[in-house]
Amino acid sequence: MEIQKDRVVSIDYMLKDDQGQIIDRSDGEPLTYLHGNDNLIPGLERELHGKVAGDRISCVIAPADAYGELDEEMIFKVAKSDFAEPEKIEVGMQFQAQDASGAHIVTVVGIEGDEVKIDANHPLAGKSLHFDVTVKDVREASPEELEHGHVHAEGGCGCGDGCCGDGDCDDEGGCGCGGCH
Ligand code: ZN
Repeated sequence: MEIQKDRVVSIDYMLKDDQGQIIDRSDGEPLTYLHGNDNLIPGLERELHGKVAGDRISCVIAPADAYGELDEEMIFKVAKSDFAEPEKIEVGMQFQAQDASGAHIVTVVGIEGDEVKIDANHPLAGKSLHFDVTVKDVREASPEELEHGHVHAEGGCGCGDGCCGDGDCDDEGGCGCGGCH
């Protein structure tokens, strides 16, 4: 079965940066996603489209087709006193910050006197991503998966994010996919 929109795809993958450092890998537990529903970065979905189980691909995805270009405006300074424990702030620390579009990971990239320099870009923004991918399985999605726009693990939806609460999925199996609606 070919990878097409609204099919459920399982892949093993290894992700490296330009220097060949491993950023992420599936590590024995394949990543399963619903193709064509913005669950993967667009560049990788494009590469996988039309492939079948057993196919292997190696590709380099440009930032624009991955996590976007680095946005200088997303790097800004905040007062050290804004932090709960200012004395513990160190370069490299990451925090979760909330804004209108949801939760983001921000990284401390500098400390200058009473100011802390924050980078709110996605940690992989501006990076070309080198993928080695093996397609493990392709199947049709269930009607419920199509309705939710993501894959459900066996035994029910795993969204855990309002999915069960709003009655969209059967509560029996429990919700836990982590990427609901
Ligand atoms: Zn769901």
